[in-house]
Amino acid sequence: MENISLLFCRPGFENDLAGELMQQAAEAQVGGYCKTLKGQGLVLFHGQGEYHFPFRDLVFARQMVKQVQTLKNLPEDDRISPILSALEGILPEKKFRDVVLESPDTNDGKSLSRFLKKFIHPLAKTIKKNGYQQDNGADVPFIHVCFTSYEEAYVGISYEGERSPFPGGIRRLKFPKDGPSRSTLKLEEAFLDLLPRELFQELKEKEGLVGVDLGAAPGGWTYQLVKHGIFTYAVDNGPMEESLVSTGLVDHHQEDAYKFQPRGHVDILVCDMVDKPSLVVKLMKHWLGEGLCDMAVFNLKLPMKKRHQEVQSCLDELRKIAGLELRAKQLYHDREEITVWARRS
Ligand code: SAM
Repeated sequence: MENISLLFCRPGFENDLAGELMQQAAEAQVGGYCKTLKGQGLVLFHGQGEYHFPFRDLVFARQMVKQVQTLKNLPEDDRISPILSALEGILPEKKFRDVVLESPDTNDGKSLSRFLKKFIHPLAKTIKKNGYQQDNGADVPFIHVCFTSYEEAYVGISYEGERSPFPGGIRRLKFPKDGPSRSTLKLEEAFLDLLPRELFQELKEKEGLVGVDLGAAPGGWTYQLVKHGIFTYAVDNGPMEESLVSTGLVDHHQEDAYKFQPRGHVDILVCDMVDKPSLVVKLMKHWLGEGLCDMAVFNLKLPMKKRHQEVQSCLDELRKIAGLELRAKQLYHDREEITVWARRS
């Protein structure tokens, strides 16, 4: 039986996500193919039988919806009835956690947001009226409806632990008034989404932590470390934001990041340099492999065509460090790049 999943990614990265899904499917010996909705940041995987994609490990996936049905030619005066008909096949237990409405992360998708805001209440109300019970159980699925236009939508479900809690997988963050650069949001998002929760808590609460920021100027990433009271060696020939340096928590080293040697123990290394991914990986392998830092958060820039292959070869290289814990994701605030978190065991 064909079983369709809908996955969201950054528009323009559909082929990379499809490549990742096909690789996962091949490894799990699942038959299937991908249909990319080019420029819309959506990929449909048509799989045979039961299969499971490890959402947490997918680098390019922002959101994952399963058991998807496609609805076309939705009538303007009643879009709810076709959704209810689709749900009959998808949710036989008639229980749901919540209803999530989504649309592509494109200008056309955004133009639907007013409609979605108006539509959510009547839809949720009618779903309940039709005998579906709202239940907060951890194994109860969320209902998703992704509208690609007023006439077309995808209906499906997602489960806790293999989904993003944010519609479309987009975590919106507020740019801090005193933030030195917009890049600061990348590291904030990485801390929230990639680090295990207890580790993030430790970063925020533990005193006396030491950080190194390679390629730090003007200071967006250093800003995040300083925000949590982490003393930071900021390495960059470029100038650092003065308000950061004046906190007394930043030691600016105007030197080559590839040559910088830490003098003592480093709890966290961060790196956002625009350089070849293979060179950044080599540098990170040096720091992590030699035990110069406990963990690292770094960016891999992906200006090349075969981004999925490049990412896989970088991750394979990093996995050569025995016992390294690793998570990589294209975060919402990442552009042509991904962010990696790695910790030595
Ligand atoms: N993370 C920073 C922020 O949030 O403000 C932005 C970093 S910017 C994308 C990249 C920085 O890396 C530039 O300031 C550049 O000077 C620095 N850089 C590139 N190669 C470097 C190297 N070999 N040594 C030191 N800094 C380097």
